[in-house]
Amino acid sequence: MNREMTSSFLLMTFFAICTLIIAVGPSELLRIGTINVDGHFTFHPSDLASVSSDFGMLKSPEEPLAVLHPSSAEDVARLVRTAYGSATAFPISARGHGHSINGQAATGRNGVVVEMNHRKTGTPEPLVRPEEMYVDVWGGELWVDVLKKTLEYGLAPKSWTDYLYLSVGGTLSNAGISGQAFHHGPQISNVLELDVVTGKGEVMRCSEEQNTRLFHGVLGGLGQFGIITRARISLEPAPQRVRWIRVLYSSFKVFTEDQEYLISMHGQLKFDYVEGFVIVDEGLVNNWRSSFFSPRNPVKISSVSSNGSVLYCLEITKNYHDSDSDTVDQEVEILMKKLNFIPTSVFTTDLQYVDFLDRVHKAELKLRSKNLWEVPHPWLNLFVPKSRISDFDKGVFKGILGNKTSGPILIYPMNNDKWDERSSAVTPDEEVFYLVALLRSALSDGEETQKLEYLKNQNRRILEFCDKAKISVKQYLPHHATQEEWVAHFGDKWERFRSMKAEFDPRHILATGQRIFHNPSLSLIPPPSSSSASW
Ligand code: FAD
Repeated sequence: MNREMTSSFLLMTFFAICTLIIAVGPSELLRIGTINVDGHFTFHPSDLASVSSDFGMLKSPEEPLAVLHPSSAEDVARLVRTAYGSATAFPISARGHGHSINGQAATGRNGVVVEMNHRKTGTPEPLVRPEEMYVDVWGGELWVDVLKKTLEYGLAPKSWTDYLYLSVGGTLSNAGISGQAFHHGPQISNVLELDVVTGKGEVMRCSEEQNTRLFHGVLGGLGQFGIITRARISLEPAPQRVRWIRVLYSSFKVFTEDQEYLISMHGQLKFDYVEGFVIVDEGLVNNWRSSFFSPRNPVKISSVSSNGSVLYCLEITKNYHDSDSDTVDQEVEILMKKLNFIPTSVFTTDLQYVDFLDRVHKAELKLRSKNLWEVPHPWLNLFVPKSRISDFDKGVFKGILGNKTSGPILIYPMNNDKWDERSSAVTPDEEVFYLVALLRSALSDGEETQKLEYLKNQNRRILEFCDKAKISVKQYLPHHATQEEWVAHFGDKWERFRSMKAEFDPRHILATGQRIFHNPSLSLIPPPSSSSASW
């Protein structure tokens, strides 16, 4: 850095520190300033700006007062202990990769964001233990990097998200789902151990054997009880290749019957991934997630549907090793024979396992090149009980959505018995439930149906419809406005959730961006006695 740059940097830092002093009081700032971390704090405007918005782009960005780039769990713990022990405890949020929709990883103006995914501070590399079939990873690690590392040993995690540029701590705070969840459960069902920094600044190791309540509470716990600094993820031998198949249906009943049949299979002969999506307009079959269909050979709905009405696409894969390439055709044929799709609508491709798992990133790069990635995303993800999925189809896919959707609409079923009841994640009270993911992008210069207000209003109508029709949906990646709604969201789990908050984050320091515990009134809760807050 030359002298001019150094002095302007120092000046900016000085102004940021002054702002901090005014906002949180000189004693708190002095305490932050004196926290001895191996990583570093930054007050630089560009760093504050970079953590102040998220993938959703639905809220005006609110810059925090400081960002911590930690190098260890102890760095995170030192910051939290400072907040916990101070007179006006300030909010602290872990930020994984900022892929939330509604500011869940933000703290507002008085907080400190812990930037978990920051390689430069020397956070630990993934450590694979091939004999024990697990990998230990830093909480801010991206799944794509976990995959790269484990593949060096011919191993891979079992349960995925569709997109890999998400952090381990971020998806484990929700659930982490994709087409493997029907068999392996969500990502939170495939964790063996965690290290967590609680809202009191304690570093706690937890697992099925040790601090069990905290272990299950943190999984799907929306960041409320602790910051995950390490996760031990279960592995399996990685397949080398994937046969990826899409088939179409015009009947929702037949489509869901086939999906439900496929997720009931758990033996050797089964598909490894079961998803699906809804096609209400022709553009969508060739949508951004469909790197599958070649742009030079777009699929014409009219070629498979006579009346242009809603179609449903089942998406399945069969994993295999190169050495099994002669049996995979046979296995796929046997499995497909049981399905009742439109016979002329089979689309098949074959690719490397890693390319299949990383498929959405290719679409991201395309959208980025057209400036269509960094746009508002009013996404709505719902878990719908199996018993009401056909009512949902009639009311939403064939009703509220009209014939333009502005983005992919995923739909696939999962088995509830693959979810651990003791986790904080919330699912409908039925053996089988569906994910319906309305993944829309808003365009300011698009048609009326692509505008943000239109899409937000449509989301509201969908939720109102479910409410009126008494379809007991649960939001996935939930966003609720009032505590009453949160209580209803958690249902039977609320009391435990609330009491765990009181135990592990009594001053409501962590993940305030989720807005579960409203108006934390941090300063009203007295700081603990100095002995318990010291380090
Ligand atoms: P952030 O958005 O940074 O954080 C999310 C929440 O977790 C915040 O409250 C934050 O404070 C908290 N948090 C973050 N790190 C930690 C930590 N280490 N410890 C404790 N709390 C923490 N989800 C699926 O399940 N399946 C999918 O297929 C899927 N696909 C997606 C595709 C795209 C393009 C996008 C944008 C999102 C997708 N998601 C999917 C949603 C994703 O799981 C959530 O956005 C999730 O929040 C992870 O994102 P993140 O790592 O950026 O976390």
